[in-house]
Amino acid sequence: MFSVTTRKTERRSNRRNATAANARSNPKGTSFAEATAFLTEIGKGFHVRGWVLGTSGNFSAVTSREPLRVAITSTGLDKGSLSPKQFLEVDNAVNIVRGDGRPSAEALLHLAIVRGAGAGAVLHTHSVWSTVLSGSHASQGGIAFEGYEMLKGLEGVRTHKHREWLPILDNSQDMVELSDRVSKTLQASPSIHGFLLKEHGLYTWGAGLQEAKRHVEILEFLMEVLVRSGAAQSA
Ligand SMILES: [Zn+2]
Repeated sequence: MFSVTTRKTERRSNRRNATAANARSNPKGTSFAEATAFLTEIGKGFHVRGWVLGTSGNFSAVTSREPLRVAITSTGLDKGSLSPKQFLEVDNAVNIVRGDGRPSAEALLHLAIVRGAGAGAVLHTHSVWSTVLSGSHASQGGIAFEGYEMLKGLEGVRTHKHREWLPILDNSQDMVELSDRVSKTLQASPSIHGFLLKEHGLYTWGAGLQEAKRHVEILEFLMEVLVRSGAAQSA
């Protein structure tokens, strides 16, 4: 038991160190132009996959750590036809420092993840799979994925034997209260790669945009496998 705990702790600290190293190698974050170009492409791809239909979802990337600046999608936009002009840059209190429009109500959650997980990019999707599973597994408080080769696409995971816990938080329209619960979840479970909001969608993140995009692809894949395999009923 002791050795298992030790290995877990090492893995966690290795992943944290990797994230910290990435943050150090790019201390200023991604440039606003780079971030908005990349997020525009992500929107097209995710829309085609059905993960951000009907203006749902939102994306962000850290453009500066000191002071904190985050490029984020404006609210109410079709994520399949975004343009870089439709992004905002906000500070750590969601004040707009660049761009026209209104930040998503969920911007507070992005900032909680940037602070709590040290993320450089945060991506939020509303897929059928996350909606189904976050409802069917809500009473268990989360979903455990284990034994899947695709788990190795999550940062720091080296084997299919890894057990990934994806917590499910009750949904809310009170973003101050919800962002507080997100911060507490990240404090309690620092090794998670994402979480679900019940019957709402997925939040995941990465040290940078590529890593965050990969995490969406991996977690959406795993959720689709679980639903399609029928395991959702018996897990
Ligand atoms: Zn949402």
